[in-house]
Amino acid sequence: MAENVEELKVLQPVVMKQLQTIFEKNRTGHAYIFDGEKGTGKKEIAMFFIKLLLCLNPSKNVPCETCRNCKRIETGNHPNIKQLEPDGQFIKIDQIRELISGMTKTSMEAGRKIYVLHHADRMNTSSANTLLKFLEEPEGNVTAILLTESYQSILPTIQSRCQHIKFASIPRDILLKQLQEQGITFSMASTVSMLTNNLDTAISLAHDEQFAHARKTVLKLVETVRKNVHEALFVVYEDWLLSFKEKEEIERALDLLLFAYRDIVAVKANPQSSCTYPDMLQSWKEIALHTTYDRLSDQLQAILHARQNLQRNMNRSLLMEQLMLNLQEGYTFV
Ligand SMILES: [Zn+2]
Repeated sequence: MAENVEELKVLQPVVMKQLQTIFEKNRTGHAYIFDGEKGTGKKEIAMFFIKLLLCLNPSKNVPCETCRNCKRIETGNHPNIKQLEPDGQFIKIDQIRELISGMTKTSMEAGRKIYVLHHADRMNTSSANTLLKFLEEPEGNVTAILLTESYQSILPTIQSRCQHIKFASIPRDILLKQLQEQGITFSMASTVSMLTNNLDTAISLAHDEQFAHARKTVLKLVETVRKNVHEALFVVYEDWLLSFKEKEEIERALDLLLFAYRDIVAVKANPQSSCTYPDMLQSWKEIALHTTYDRLSDQLQAILHARQNLQRNMNRSLLMEQLMLNLQEGYTFV
């Protein structure tokens, strides 16, 4: 676990410090809400915290992993730990009742009892109110850990009974690793991780055919505009304008275009840079070799300007024609 603890600290340095301090100062509360997006380590850190609280031989605010309690928690066999997941769409009132009666049974061992509510935002009102009563009058040494990806969906009365532990978004390099573990290519993972740091959103973008098409269209445009503006305009009319109709789609496509030019700037400064489009690296190097920072800066400005014009509802064909001319100007000397 030592190595694992280090990983958790990289993923959530603030949260880990918070929880270790709570343990060190012996200030364990009755209830916590772990609030963070999917993939931010809520479950793993809940497990770490539970072990820490029950470990027979903790050292430096880290559980030993070898004592009887650590082992039983790891295998899900500790009688004082209960976990609850939604039954179907909701956490039902019967589930909460059963949980409460389980927590108050005498068959439990002496010492702290802990329950974990997964997707705590999926309690309906009656479940939430039943839980609330239990949170208000906890019997004995009981600690609740509520996990949620949607803090604002939890009843304010429950929020106010719990300590709010806010998890940070995933750092890009860790998200990249997680996406590749899902079978997503490094190239695609690099691109989607520039647009979102939510694991679910990133995965669904990476599997979205329309997004793959948008990515391709944008890259085609970057390749074409430096060679021949007429050909670039052809791509605009035959592909871009037909593919991107909604304002949000155009906005995202312009962002993807912006990232391409940022890549080129980065590669020009340092050929080892991490890119939004690593699959284009050779091409970026080639372009970077034949342009200047001033021209790249003008091109980035031109894209930002097009983005503003989009917000002002400028005619979209006109907007793109203007943009192509501005982007191409960067290459007139070549
Ligand atoms: Zn232990």
